[in-house]
Amino acid sequence: MSFIQLNNLTKYFHDSSNPAVTALNLDIQKGEIISLLGPSGCGKTTTLRMIAGFEHPNKGEIHIDGKEVFSETHSLPPEKRGIGMVFQDYALFPHMTILKNVMFGLNKWSARQKKQRAKEVLELVGLEGYEKRYPTQLSGGQQQRVALARALAPNPHVVLMDEPFSNLDAGLREKMRFDVTNILRKANTTAIIVTHDQKDAFAVSDRVVVMKDGVIQQIAAPKEMYRCPKNCFVAQFVGKTNLLTGRMDDDLMNIHTHIGKVTLPEQWQERLETVKLSIRPEGCHLTDQGAFCGEVVRVTYGGEYQELYVRLHNEPNLSKEPMLIYAPIDQDVEIGTI
Ligand code: ADP
Ligand code: MG
Repeated sequence: MSFIQLNNLTKYFHDSSNPAVTALNLDIQKGEIISLLGPSGCGKTTTLRMIAGFEHPNKGEIHIDGKEVFSETHSLPPEKRGIGMVFQDYALFPHMTILKNVMFGLNKWSARQKKQRAKEVLELVGLEGYEKRYPTQLSGGQQQRVALARALAPNPHVVLMDEPFSNLDAGLREKMRFDVTNILRKANTTAIIVTHDQKDAFAVSDRVVVMKDGVIQQIAAPKEMYRCPKNCFVAQFVGKTNLLTGRMDDDLMNIHTHIGKVTLPEQWQERLETVKLSIRPEGCHLTDQGAFCGEVVRVTYGGEYQELYVRLHNEPNLSKEPMLIYAPIDQDVEIGTI
């Protein structure tokens, strides 16, 4: 049995005819870090709140560490589920010191044990020496580490984090992705992280769950998700891509598209009439002897690479988007290059 099992979870809110989450199934192993990834309103927070016990599903079951915490006839209250929650705004108590904030969730422990455990987790998150400060005397990244320390202090079965990086600026965000993953790994904790940002999800998790309109689209490790997206939504949501519609040949190798014939790297397994091809921008190269000819209509300097928008010559329909291609920064490209 998996460490966390979500079976057929469905949630309707009274004022909406569409469910916020529909028949969601997910198995999570002990020690795994999972991201729920999807656009705003797709049901990520609702899923997290159902696991935490703040929201009751209309259908389904939740098991954590072999124990049924929710079914249609039974619901364990949030404080008995063994969950550590890190809220988007950190929810630290401003009038309490860092030490008191972290000790707060340990109410059944003796005063000595509380203090010892709080010091232990503050050390784990790299904040030893900050015990006597108040939240306002810390940076955003430090406040987040306090919130994580407070969630980890009671040794929860699972840590839930809702949009943990969204209040941080770009540089700090990258550092915190690294820090949070390190802390969770060191604590050997199972974690579910909600984010709408593909880079967050890919950087921190073992597996990513992409959701749309309350429905899981794909569950996969980041690399597999990027290389083998299950549908057009996933292909476009995780990274940039060029989507082409085509017809498959009997050989299951060649796809006829509006820009011409595209040969697949390996034979497809089944005959499909109409197909969608997702071609990543880094999968195309600008050379003088390629399979397609075109004109560069726009060049954007991306720092690590150049983004080229190329209108292919055998593309008769000018309303269609030009192809996006990444070129190395040192490649000489000018608008109009053919
Ligand atoms: P996400 O976290 O992915 O942005 P949410 O889980 O917050 O999405 O919301 C999913 C859907 O459920 C949205 O359509 C949202 O408007 C709706 N919703 C969320 N919470 C409530 C609520 N308390 N009452 C009514 N509708 C809600
Ligand atoms: Mg949300």
